[in-house]
Amino acid sequence: MYNIPTSVPESALPVCNALYTADYVITQNEGRDIIRKGAVAVSDDRILCVGHTDILEILYPEARRVDLGHAVLLPGLVNGHTHVPMSLLRGISDDKKLMDWLTQDIFPRESRLTPELVELGSRFSMAEMIRTGTTSFYDMYMLEDSVFNAADAMGMRAVLGVSLTQFFPSLDAPDWDALQDKIRALAERCRRHPRLRLAITPHAPYTTHPGLLRDCRTLADELDVLFGMHLAETAGETETCLKDFGMRPIPYCESLGLLQPDTTFFHVVEAGIAPDHLREDMELLAEQRCAVVHNPGSNMKLASGVAPLRAMEQAGVQTGLGTDGPSSNNAQNMVREMYLASLLQKVHNLDPQACPAQRALDMATRGGSHALHDPYIGTLEPGMRADFIALSLDSPNMQPVHNPVSNIVYAATGMETILTVVNGRELYRDGKFLCCDYDALCEELKGVYDWIQQG
Ligand SMILES: [Zn+2]
Repeated sequence: MYNIPTSVPESALPVCNALYTADYVITQNEGRDIIRKGAVAVSDDRILCVGHTDILEILYPEARRVDLGHAVLLPGLVNGHTHVPMSLLRGISDDKKLMDWLTQDIFPRESRLTPELVELGSRFSMAEMIRTGTTSFYDMYMLEDSVFNAADAMGMRAVLGVSLTQFFPSLDAPDWDALQDKIRALAERCRRHPRLRLAITPHAPYTTHPGLLRDCRTLADELDVLFGMHLAETAGETETCLKDFGMRPIPYCESLGLLQPDTTFFHVVEAGIAPDHLREDMELLAEQRCAVVHNPGSNMKLASGVAPLRAMEQAGVQTGLGTDGPSSNNAQNMVREMYLASLLQKVHNLDPQACPAQRALDMATRGGSHALHDPYIGTLEPGMRADFIALSLDSPNMQPVHNPVSNIVYAATGMETILTVVNGRELYRDGKFLCCDYDALCEELKGVYDWIQQG
């Protein structure tokens, strides 16, 4: 049992709207408690109580009951880095190195995107995430006001990162001044929203000159929004940074004042750098309390390298997990990503302890709280946001249940998800989307073939 109030007058107790019960509840709390025959009590958008079903049903006899049976309830997974509109480009270009993939196939098509297409691609990615147990994500793209519309409609929690490079005019604006006006307007919309927050996310050091990077950081501080960027993704990026600025990517960002506690860096593969430098760089990130998001699927597919998770852990860098976009992964499935994260570290380090199942689940939940700079997600505990999921344990790959964490990380596919709840609202349950007309969405997506044919 956890923190059941005992001295509060009955009239002041919050109302329990719903009581979800399942054979297992993985709390992801400090002690990583797993409750057999457990329950989660919800009051509006918050978790009221987590504990044993037989006690919570006595405490909350009037609550609506949702009995999930042979299933496991756990915190919603957090996709710490993605580009949701890119589902439109899934499968359009594969099996290339990052720079060839970007410049030959992605950038030319992105230049023809419209707000309507960005919104459509975003809704489709969100459907995939909701279907596979993700409740929140950190996005980074252009026309982010269209991603706002999609996330608002679909019910997910998100950090919306306005991405930019030094190359104007962009899809968003003719110049930096006009883009700043647009960012201010979107910041205002986010400020009033219960689930959506804003970030300024320049694309990368190799596409954004130092003056503009500083301006982005200043604007993020002024608007009190988050800051993120792709960083140290490939050996080529490190070489370019050394040649142009005489520093490796992380010390270079430090010299520009970009390393702050509200900062999240995506990738941080640090390919090809010496062990001493690696240690120094990780210590810099840890000292400044920056978060890092690891993207194993994308790093493997683009042959970028293997992120130094152990060095991050040893230095105390807070690490989340992300899929990266749907055309460099190509899925938006965090269950699959946990599996990849764990196995990649094992084979790279030739050590089965390099990333155990619990560590992978931690990155996708508690680490997501750091990546999104939201202390109220990532665990099932009283007072946390009511963001949780349930996976059925009925399918052959999920039995027997000696260790539910092992089954989720090493055996699940994500399609075992039977329930996805964000902010207390059910977005998906028992095979049905409750946040969108999925058939209509699939019909709309057919229009993307015509758009691809045009150029
Ligand atoms: Zn990315």
